[in-house]
Amino acid sequence: MPRAVVVLVLVVDVVAVLTSVWTAFLLPVEGADLTHFAILLACASIAIELTRHIERRRQHERGGTVAYIDTKAVWSFAAVLVLPPVLATVMVLFTYALAWSRVKPQAQKLPYRWVFSCATVLIGTHIAVAVLSSGMSSYPGVPSGGVWQGLLDLGVVIAAATIRWAINVGLVMAAIAAAKPTVTVRELFSNFGEQMLEAGAMGLGLVAAAIVVTNPVVMPGIVIAMVALHRGILVNQYQQASRIDAKTGLSTAGWWHEFADQSLAHARDRGTTLGLLIVDLDHFKRLNDTFGHPYGDLVLKAVAQELIAEIRDEDACGRWGGEEFVIVLPDVGDRRNLRNIAQRIRRRIQSVVVDPPAHLAEAGDATFTASVGGAIYPSAGVNTLDELLLAADTALYAAKNGGRNTVRISDPDLPVTAEQPALPQRAEPPAPGA
Ligand code: GH3
Ligand code: MG
Ligand code: MG
Repeated sequence: MPRAVVVLVLVVDVVAVLTSVWTAFLLPVEGADLTHFAILLACASIAIELTRHIERRRQHERGGTVAYIDTKAVWSFAAVLVLPPVLATVMVLFTYALAWSRVKPQAQKLPYRWVFSCATVLIGTHIAVAVLSSGMSSYPGVPSGGVWQGLLDLGVVIAAATIRWAINVGLVMAAIAAAKPTVTVRELFSNFGEQMLEAGAMGLGLVAAAIVVTNPVVMPGIVIAMVALHRGILVNQYQQASRIDAKTGLSTAGWWHEFADQSLAHARDRGTTLGLLIVDLDHFKRLNDTFGHPYGDLVLKAVAQELIAEIRDEDACGRWGGEEFVIVLPDVGDRRNLRNIAQRIRRRIQSVVVDPPAHLAEAGDATFTASVGGAIYPSAGVNTLDELLLAADTALYAAKNGGRNTVRISDPDLPVTAEQPALPQRAEPPAPGA
């Protein structure tokens, strides 16, 4: 690990120990506190146990460059509100230890990361203690029942929750950034939508805090809600997966189709043009046969990166299937512009070099090219996305027949339905929204 990471981790761990000791003696623990603590502890154990399969899958599928979000905060935030700080500290330690031993797949355990993450939450918790104890009308406790005092108290609770969250996420992101200097800010924040989960957990923590002191019998309601809602968390992750082609990182055919359909509708409404290109690698089967399938996969990935680099942000590139890529280009201008873009893409692919495996270096020629077919909306006989695809596919067919490594753009003066060649078989993209 880079020195900066080691220093950051050690400093945070030591500070967490110091703040734990500092807050431990602020308030004495009374009998009722122990009862409330025991109830929260039991609920936390049940909830973690019942959601651990989902959490394990989430961890597994999460990228290495984002902070992991979970819902342990329900219990530890409830604890910081209604219990003396020492018990809030124990609650954080307990939930982390339980999740560590029950959720994390055995093979992937990296204790120092969990200790670090736990330390950031401890520091955040203790700073929340400072905020709550100086701002709440009664601390530890829940917001007052009076309207104005209650709203003031609520503001303090929200401030404490925000600070606790910011310290946790900020320190974890700092550690990731220090450990992987190449990580981009965009990657760090790529799961920011999931932070809503953390906000939801603390909101539920506030409710749990109020219930545990007033009517603990209702607590199972919170556990049931948490476990049931957890299932919904996965949906987001799966939706993301259904939109991204795992091999190339491009849009999947279904997602691209949906985007292209919308782009066509916009072009129609605003009277602008829309370009469509289909890029098909030439004699790709030969590359596979000569250098192996894994090499072919590397080529697909490299080509995908070149395509992304060549197109504008408002364009969208998808993997249509196999070694075929589709690009939709809103507001592309005229046919000549589209041809120029297609030529740039063709030349760019021609210049890509992917080194074959060493033992096959002499097996054959490792260069590759692509043929590109294009069509533009509006043009004669092209009103729907399927017609646009058909026109581009026909042009691609002509490019292949014209010797490959060439570009053909559908000619608007020739109706696409004339002399239709047999289309190559390809899987239908799933219906949008399916
Ligand atoms: P053409 O110039 O006419 O396009 O010839 P081609 O060989 O590229 O076209 P063909 O359709 O005959 O073969 C496509 C090949 O693409 C066959 C298939 O094995 C390969 N392919 C499809 N998907 C993948 C993939 O995900 N990885 C690899 N490595 N190869 C793939
Ligand atoms: Mg091909
Ligand atoms: Mg093909």
